[in-house]
Amino acid sequence: MVKRVLISYCIDVDACAGWINTQNGTVANASDVSRGIFGANVGTDRLLKFFDDNGIKATWFMPSHTILSFPEQMAKVRDGGHEIGLHGYTHEFVSKLTEEQERKVMAKSIEVYKQFTGKHPKGWVAPAWEVSPHSMQILEDFGIEYDHSLCHHDCQPYWAPDVASTVVYTDYSQDPDTWMMPMSKHKVTQVVEIPGSWNIDDWPPMHYSIRNPGTHGFVNPRDIQVQWEDQFTFMYREYETFSFTISIHPQVSGKSNIMLMHERFLDFLKSHDGVEFVTAATICDE
Ligand SMILES: [Zn+2]
Repeated sequence: MVKRVLISYCIDVDACAGWINTQNGTVANASDVSRGIFGANVGTDRLLKFFDDNGIKATWFMPSHTILSFPEQMAKVRDGGHEIGLHGYTHEFVSKLTEEQERKVMAKSIEVYKQFTGKHPKGWVAPAWEVSPHSMQILEDFGIEYDHSLCHHDCQPYWAPDVASTVVYTDYSQDPDTWMMPMSKHKVTQVVEIPGSWNIDDWPPMHYSIRNPGTHGFVNPRDIQVQWEDQFTFMYREYETFSFTISIHPQVSGKSNIMLMHERFLDFLKSHDGVEFVTAATICDE
């Protein structure tokens, strides 16, 4: 059976934005911020070389803060022919914003993007995949063609549903009769979903953060490589065509031992017939 697999490296260049997004204006730890600077400089350079050496064009999702704070570094990505996508302004969690705030951030992000690339953006990733109930409608309203934040499937793109219309949330202070409700049918939007997966993401297992118990940071990259390979192997066996998106961050994957993992993992991917390395925009078009 002829296989066709669209593989996309999706790189979140959170840089410092993810660290200074303290949500309440408190001061970020300067050592954490320096890790973001490592990502924007060293990590980005290492990944660009890795992609250049292998003839791969990737998709780099950039917070506006990263574009404006590291213009020369991000210009290397842009001028290298890679796709650039939206990733908020300061990596703010849109699930915690009002709809008005979320729309304002989107408008500003698009303005910065257009000044940087001369184009209208095609795709968006919610910072930390923290989507709000309004996000898909906002993407549609702003003419964004695809999202890469949801997980209804793990290897087949689909039309993103409008989350807001589907559920009744529990409120223990109210009579259960007010919230004992099944989900209603999704309203489908015009936004293509290129699904993501926490299980093919470098950050949680391989980037220690003293303030974030959801991260680990000391998992052997060789073990992570096996987990990623097993996911790919199952999909390759079960589907004639599928998308495989790899979510990574320059400040994580740019570390020496993880760069070696990427070299080995790419050899594994390339050993399969029918694999193509494309941008997320290409997956969206298809
Ligand atoms: Zn991010």
